[in-house]
Amino acid sequence: MDWHHRTARTTDPSPPALDGELRFDQLAREQAADDFGHIVHTEPEAVLLPGSADDVAETIRWAAKRGRTFAPQGQRHSVWGRSGARHGIVADMSTRRSVGRVQNDRIVVGAGATWREVLAATLPRGKTPPVLTDYLDLSVGGTLVVGGVGGTTSRYGVQSDRVLSMDVVTGTGQTITCSARSNTDLFDAARAGLGQVGVITEATLELVAAPEQVRRFVLFYPDLAGMLTDARLLSSAAGFDAVQGAILAAPTGGLSFQLDVAKFFTGNPPDDDLLLAGLSDDPVRRTPGTIAHVDYLERLAGLEAALRANGHWFHPHPWLTTFIGDSHVESVVDDELGRVDPATDLGRFGQIVLSPIRTGAITSPLLRTPSEGLCFAFNFVRVPTTADPDNAHRLVESNRAVYERIRNAGGTLYPVSAFPMSPGDWRRHFGSEFHRLDEAKQKFDPDHVLTPGYDVFEGMPHDGVSRRRAAPG
Ligand SMILES: Cc1cc2nc3c(=O)[nH]c(=O)nc-3n(C[C@H](O)[C@H](O)[C@H](O)COP(=O)(O)OP(=O)(O)OC[C@H]3O[C@@H](n4cnc5c(N)ncnc54)[C@H](O)[C@@H]3O)c2cc1C
Repeated sequence: MDWHHRTARTTDPSPPALDGELRFDQLAREQAADDFGHIVHTEPEAVLLPGSADDVAETIRWAAKRGRTFAPQGQRHSVWGRSGARHGIVADMSTRRSVGRVQNDRIVVGAGATWREVLAATLPRGKTPPVLTDYLDLSVGGTLVVGGVGGTTSRYGVQSDRVLSMDVVTGTGQTITCSARSNTDLFDAARAGLGQVGVITEATLELVAAPEQVRRFVLFYPDLAGMLTDARLLSSAAGFDAVQGAILAAPTGGLSFQLDVAKFFTGNPPDDDLLLAGLSDDPVRRTPGTIAHVDYLERLAGLEAALRANGHWFHPHPWLTTFIGDSHVESVVDDELGRVDPATDLGRFGQIVLSPIRTGAITSPLLRTPSEGLCFAFNFVRVPTTADPDNAHRLVESNRAVYERIRNAGGTLYPVSAFPMSPGDWRRHFGSEFHRLDEAKQKFDPDHVLTPGYDVFEGMPHDGVSRRRAAPG
């Protein structure tokens, strides 16, 4: 038991009566201190296992009274301690993972459910959320607060664009239902708002018809310019449903430039010649295939299994995720490729993602993309072959430098990256939309109780103690 723990337990109001459990033991606190990044460790004072949405509200009020912070944790797949609350209270939202029945065009789910669990309910009924992250073991709440980018984002936007309504517990412990029609200020600040205004406990997700099969091709290019030319062509045509690009270390040395393109269908297969007309990839290396839609959604499973087997899954993950506008993409990426050493900076299983995204479909106001109709997700998915913390910190420093070059070229951050951002950086990041988040913060979390890990606001505590003094118990 550490000093903070003892002080809190002996002098503060008793924990509330709960349907679930509040754990103070070392094991629970240590587990909650880590995330997928394995770089930042923020040990909380206690871990809430909420047995109800009311537990979340009660515990937020209790934390606030004691001047403590509170952060919900989904699957802890953040890479820079964003779901941590040092000496504060964290909530393991995986206890709130109920998945309701499919109701034609929607489904109601607990925010702690993973996208895999949502799909398990919807696919047997022929339905799917329109946008899915490439990796399915992320929580609904954890992705709604960052946006949630997937292969179909050019058509449907991000996941937070396709949520119909949410139940949100605010920083004052009030439970509010919000949507595009009611409590819109909360709705717009909660979606892609980095958990700053409330804890999502339940979400009503939009559903569309799921295709049965996918015609998929991997296309290979000799260089960046060729890859970008086809990425632009493919993203402006109606043909493929998903266009995702990657730059990897080639087994023969040098870099491999490739596009992974997918056409969804049910019934007759699409016409390959029509889909691929005008492309300039190497036709000899083109890899076609037809797979079940569910297998397409599981396309990262093999990589995850390999990384778990060789241990790299458990190494630090100093990832960088950004968006860069089409007008700058070639020069910026070319410059970064000249700086990167694939073996040490990405790892044998790492890659640079370079995927075209049409920004017109994205409507969540706080999801910041470059002000161009076409941008590219430009991500350094670093998978170090070593667990060495010095190596991870070197890459974190590199992330900051790359981010600044991207920002100077009009690019934006996709806020799941591993490097520190100051409140000033966030203000600049949100730009003309910062007022929206700021006003909502003042209204819904005036004492700055929620989600300190993002460090969005001046005066956010680093020691788990809120900026304002504890109110009398
Ligand atoms: C292997 C892997 C693959 C990924 N693939 C994609 C991808 O394809 N597309 C994409 O967009 N992103 C992807 N990401 C990034 C991922 O979407 C974000 O890191 C996301 O925030 C993680 O979700 P989580 O459930 O693990 O949330 P956590 O890491 O637990 O939390 C993330 C943030 O959300 C807050 N939060 C969690 N739950 C709630 C809630 N219920 N209400 C309010 N705030 C909450 C936390 O406090 C924290 O600030 C990937 C990450 C990994 C590690």
